Amino acid sequence: MDLKKYIRDVPDFPKEGIIFKDITTLIGNGDAFKYAVDKMIEPFKEESIDRIIGIESRGFLFGGAMAYIIGTGVNIARKPGKLPWKTIKEEYSLEYGTNALEIHIDAVKEGEKILIVDDLLATGGTALAVAKLVERLGGSVVGISFLVELTFLNGRKKLEGYKVHSVIEY
Ligand code: AMP
Repeated sequence: MDLKKYIRDVPDFPKEGIIFKDITTLIGNGDAFKYAVDKMIEPFKEESIDRIIGIESRGFLFGGAMAYIIGTGVNIARKPGKLPWKTIKEEYSLEYGTNALEIHIDAVKEGEKILIVDDLLATGGTALAVAKLVERLGGSVVGISFLVELTFLNGRKKLEGYKVHSVIEY
């Protein structure tokens, strides 16, 4: 299936010069969503995984569906101030600005094997911040799975040492 035809390019969002890859058109299609989720989990199906961490917000959609397939739990990394309980925080730089992500301190337990999931890899700062959160809580990162990778931004280099998987490259 050619998933690219389900992704909408939105120029100059959220800032001038950024071409936003809008995946709402893909997740809104049942066949495309199912195919995308199957492809995102494929290389990790034989791995031992204790939990998936989905990154706010589109990572929640894919992460939840992938966790259902492999029968694990799922947890969430969120923007500051959104999680109700005790959290730890990592700051990072984004293709368009800086941000921070938080995770509940019991989202990952010592020794757990974690798969991190997001919709898109740009510069890699977001996923690296989540990998650091997982490791600060004593977990190990089995891999990081994305639907889309913007290869020209070299995010993979920032994530060197991790098993990085993406389904669609631009
Ligand atoms: P980065 O930390 O640079 O790898 O940015 C990845 C995060 O920002 C992901 O959560 C993406 O959803 C979002 N993002 C960055 N650039 C884009 C883009 N061009 N289109 C859609 N989402 C993007």
